Amino acid sequence: MQSIYDFTYEKLQEMFINNGMKKYRSEQCFNWIYRKMVDSFEQMSDLGKENIEFLKNNFYIDTLTLVSKQVAKDKTTKYLFKLKDGYTIETVLMHFSFGKSVCVTSQVGCNMGCKFCASGLLKKQRNLTSGEIVAQIAYVNKELQKENERVRNIVVMGIGEPFDNYENVMDFCKTVNHDKGFAIGARHITISTCGVVPKIYQFADEKVQYNLAISLHAPTDKQRSEIMPINKSYSLEKLMNALKYYSDKNNRRLTFEYILLKGVNDTYEDAINLSKLLKGTNSYVNLIPYNEVDEHGFKTSDDKSSLKFYDYLMKNNVKATLRTKHGDDIDAACGQLRAKHERAQ
Ligand code: SAH
Repeated sequence: MQSIYDFTYEKLQEMFINNGMKKYRSEQCFNWIYRKMVDSFEQMSDLGKENIEFLKNNFYIDTLTLVSKQVAKDKTTKYLFKLKDGYTIETVLMHFSFGKSVCVTSQVGCNMGCKFCASGLLKKQRNLTSGEIVAQIAYVNKELQKENERVRNIVVMGIGEPFDNYENVMDFCKTVNHDKGFAIGARHITISTCGVVPKIYQFADEKVQYNLAISLHAPTDKQRSEIMPINKSYSLEKLMNALKYYSDKNNRRLTFEYILLKGVNDTYEDAINLSKLLKGTNSYVNLIPYNEVDEHGFKTSDDKSSLKFYDYLMKNNVKATLRTKHGDDIDAACGQLRAKHERAQ
């Protein structure tokens, strides 16, 4: 049995045709799944008995099992879901003035091993299927529907490295972006990577309009390699070359995420190095307060250093935003889901 959410619009069409069903039926089915958001094939009343029977026997609509739900004072909501094989994943809903925003998980655990990150404590168990990522949005959308609301923005910034699960993440984006599906605008979808260089080239060639965010977190190779093992495979020079290729092809503004870690990457000198590194790029920097993870010993930068860092960037023509936290009182998700998801204004 396979989740029906695994099928992009095109793949669903293909599957219908390959199984002797009419092409237009797949459109009806897609509509039932994503517009009417039904929980069962039986509810697809205009699909024809035989087709419903076939779908029922071969597929399921993945409704994810809710394990717990925490709501913070600012209404940030963290969902803990159980997958079919028992693994649990987290999804976070944030309420912004520009709309509801959801942060999805792309893998069970993560192998990137960033030293400051809580996810690294749990090695990757497996990739999520595209359907399991779609199901996170479907769940939240079904809840929001009750308030006549819907998900407007998606950030692929939950647990996992999306470019280590490239095909499934791309299929996920296609499905939620499709105008006959959830119709979430491409420019309202952000994929965040720690810098898997070959996939940045591949992504650049796709010519899609999703936003790309890079977890940079350090301005020199020495510092970055110490906190992010990926930098040993793909140095800053390689990363910046790939990003230049992306920018030349797509003409899109990049986001650099930069967690301010006390004494590690938040000094005046670091700000100087960062502005040198980013000179000439079409980008802005999202300065993120670190959410302290007990096991790691890193500390959040103090307000004075953070502001000084921010000021230096701004005075030197590096566009930056200094973030505030969201959902603090519920410890929103895995540590890295906090605080970073606001769109730059
Ligand atoms: N692997 C992807 C996406 C998941 S991590 C990536 O690296 O971009 C999402 C973001 O949260 C990354 O910028 C990551 O570096 C950051 N992050 C991880 N741990 C954090 C913490 N404890 N506090 C704040 N941000 C954190």
